[in-house]
Amino acid sequence: MPSSIFNSQTPTLIAGPCSAETEAQVLETARALALIPEVKVFRAGIWKPRTRPGAFEGMGEVALKWLQKVKAETGLLTAVEAGNPEHVEELLKHGIDIIWIGARTTVNPFAVQEIADAVKGNNVHVWVKNPINPDLKLWMGAIERIEKAGIENVVAIHRGFQVYENSVYRYPPKWDIPISLMSERPDLKIVCDPSHITGKRDMLLSVSQKAMDLGFDGLMIETHPNPDQAWSDAAQQITPQTLQQLLAQLQIRDRNIEGVGFTNELESLRNMVDSLDEELLEIIAKRMDLIAKIGSYKKQHNITVFQPERWLEIKKSRANFGENLKLNPEFVLNILTEIHNESIRFQTEIIYPEINQNNEH
Ligand code: PEP
Ligand code: MN
Repeated sequence: MPSSIFNSQTPTLIAGPCSAETEAQVLETARALALIPEVKVFRAGIWKPRTRPGAFEGMGEVALKWLQKVKAETGLLTAVEAGNPEHVEELLKHGIDIIWIGARTTVNPFAVQEIADAVKGNNVHVWVKNPINPDLKLWMGAIERIEKAGIENVVAIHRGFQVYENSVYRYPPKWDIPISLMSERPDLKIVCDPSHITGKRDMLLSVSQKAMDLGFDGLMIETHPNPDQAWSDAAQQITPQTLQQLLAQLQIRDRNIEGVGFTNELESLRNMVDSLDEELLEIIAKRMDLIAKIGSYKKQHNITVFQPERWLEIKKSRANFGENLKLNPEFVLNILTEIHNESIRFQTEIIYPEINQNNEH
């Protein structure tokens, strides 16, 4: 096992299916991935944490033999998720090189400590996905538990965070959190998992590019010979050939600047702003959905679009709310006026679709 599979010139790729399904699928994927020089690690889930029972929960131990074949035949390192000490024991027994802790396990310090105790004294790499909830301290705490167990190769995996709001992402990246981790732990390698962040193929490139621009050390991308037929996470998987195309399109910038690591503070702040702007727009879109519902209600009950008392109440309460956040009341009023105007225009369109169509001519 090389002491580090990372270098500062090119990102390290971890690829492979969400789940090991059959021996043929595992080997076919691995053989194709082994032809891509950046791919150093073959990943496959064999115990799958599914939100509800009844979904495919992984093939279990039988699949570990398939992974041993992958390693023997292709030389790729192997990585599998462990959710408990029994999993760890099986993985160690089968010579799996990298054990990763999944997002649903990182949230629980008891579970992480049990895994830390189980890996103690073994020369295995342990990679820690961020907790599913956006909590930097919990992520760092899990990493520290593994380090305290004497594991030398600990890597952070950023896979996005669950938020209550709907989002274009399956798990919004909230880049400010991995950026904070990089600032606090510049010594730590960090890999981005755009597959779980996006949940869909067509956004993989943009999120991967962002990760590269932020100086991530690698990417974990789910790959399957027949993505649409995958038994788990079908919408986000890509073929090894598509992965190769994606890599060809990635702009890799020189990360070898003096001081190495995350030195460009302005860039990191801008990235946090980008991330917040996306959230801002998602919230406005969500507000518009409600505005549409209210528009339909007004139409049904024959109520006028503009309700002056309601508008006065909004202005007053939001100005107070904004002031508590130290926002300039005039600025708050300007934003709200713009949003309110757009809401009125939108509802008018809902109530009188024919008028607005005419206006376009
Ligand atoms: C996975 O990598 O397939 C997985 C289950 O990941 P996460 O823990 O990030 O949901
Ligand atoms: Mn998956």
